Amino acid sequence: MAERMLQFVRLSQRTPEKRPATLRREDFQEIYDRFDTAHAAEQASRCSQCGVPFCSVHCPLNNNIPDWLKLTTEGRLEEAYEVASATNTFPEICGRVCPQDRLCEGNCVIEKGFDSVTIGAVERYITDTAFERGWVKPPSPPREVDRSVAIIGAGPAGMAAAERLRTLGWKVHVYDRYDRAGGLLIYGIPNFKLEKEIVLRRAAQFEEGGITFHLNAEVGRDVSLEDLRSRHDAVLIATGVYKARDIALPGADLPGVVPAMDFLTASNRKGLGDEVPDFDSGALNAAGKRVVVIGGGDTAMDCVRTAVRQGAASVTCLYRRDKANMPGSMREVANAEEEGVRFAWLSAPESFEGEAFEGEEHVTGVRAVKMHLGLPDATGRQQVEPIPGSAYVEPADLVIKALGFDPEDLPAAFGEPALTVTRWGTIKVDHRSMMTSIPGVFAAGDIVRGASLVVWAIRDGRDVAEHIRNYADARDAMPVAAE
Ligand code: FAD
Ligand code: SF4
Ligand code: SF4
Repeated sequence: MAERMLQFVRLSQRTPEKRPATLRREDFQEIYDRFDTAHAAEQASRCSQCGVPFCSVHCPLNNNIPDWLKLTTEGRLEEAYEVASATNTFPEICGRVCPQDRLCEGNCVIEKGFDSVTIGAVERYITDTAFERGWVKPPSPPREVDRSVAIIGAGPAGMAAAERLRTLGWKVHVYDRYDRAGGLLIYGIPNFKLEKEIVLRRAAQFEEGGITFHLNAEVGRDVSLEDLRSRHDAVLIATGVYKARDIALPGADLPGVVPAMDFLTASNRKGLGDEVPDFDSGALNAAGKRVVVIGGGDTAMDCVRTAVRQGAASVTCLYRRDKANMPGSMREVANAEEEGVRFAWLSAPESFEGEAFEGEEHVTGVRAVKMHLGLPDATGRQQVEPIPGSAYVEPADLVIKALGFDPEDLPAAFGEPALTVTRWGTIKVDHRSMMTSIPGVFAAGDIVRGASLVVWAIRDGRDVAEHIRNYADARDAMPVAAE
């Protein structure tokens, strides 16, 4: 086993085995195998233990990456796990879903000409091993304190905050409108990127550690924000962003044109063994269909790859810019290409075509126009312009719209006009305290940032827990007004 660091000159980068595309097209299992002990140690040993580790600087959690790489190289895995979990509530999840090419690994500076250290795969290896060996424990406070918090939303932001506050001894009540905890980790991200068991085992541990989940409980419908405020010392809003951006084009409401989250949620539910009538009826099932996905982000990549696995006849991704300008992770684009997805670059939809079939009109294609890249705008991004006379039709039986998400109107949904939002509809917080315009009500995750990343939601969840604690400390330190 390698025990010395700086081995990048001798050892090439090696990622965990990726299952062949022909096999992964057939199932929803994760596509990367796990490192074995020898390969994890070997790959960790490539790190040059930088004095200023840019990997850590560009990790939203500022993980102590060089430290746990060194401990992994030395076979001191329990300590490696201690270090990795000191700054990250879900290292096994980040190791799987972070776009490492844009974060830690993209900023690994071993030396020009050498590939980065495979940080994410080692992080995953450490924590999967920790689970197997029983080192991962439920949150366990040294003592109970007489404080309680209501957390609205069991996504990574809400869950990270829940874990921190429970560890401090708070009574933690998490409310979620879904029937399972995990937010987009369960119902958005497909199984082939993150197996659901990984998320469910954390939720089970949190419950074991005394966190109370109120599932199928929608705040604003089943319970009010006001009620939660009256019963708890603080409230955290971590509801994420779910309102799908729409396309106002002719034919957009034809049957067979569906939003990405409906499609992905149905697929994830099916995988979890739920009854999904819209999947069984074929409305949200790509089997045997010509599928067109509109959009170029990670959600679009999840849709095309889900459609492939459901047995679509063909899958095309329509994107109005070129490959170099795609917002999605290049790793995911490459995976999609390997799995047989066709990309129609520089193509924008103009309208949806339909035909009556058995008495009902249904989508039959997307009329698209070719684009060319023009001059950059004020943000530096190249503008796209349609090429006259270039319209054509992409045949389709199922069209999936993956154009991004906006926040719901939370002040209206919660019946709280005093809850201030930004002009994008995200919740406005004081960035020093993460408190909203309502005293004692905090917010974190996508509902503050707009659609972002799991790792940022975890960071926010951990930070807001600290702010909530400080708020309660300050409030308790206030002199009680004389009667
Ligand atoms: P969410 O995960 O959205 O959780 C919010 C929770 O709040 C949900 O469970 C919801 O049911 C609940 N809720 C909402 N309103 C209410 C209410 N009124 N009452 C009670 N509960 C409520 N990020 C990555 O880093 N890597 C990826 O590979 C990746 N893939 C993605 C794929 C898809 C398809 C999508 C949509 C997103 C992806 N993301 C990815 C982004 C990532 O999932 C989010 O940034 C992250 O989950 C945000 O966490 P959150 O806790 O703020 O919100
Ligand atoms: Fe990299 Fe994400 Fe892990 Fe940070 S949390 S080290 S960005 S994989
Ligand atoms: Fe190691 Fe790369 Fe981080 Fe430097 S930047 S400490 S080489 S992982």
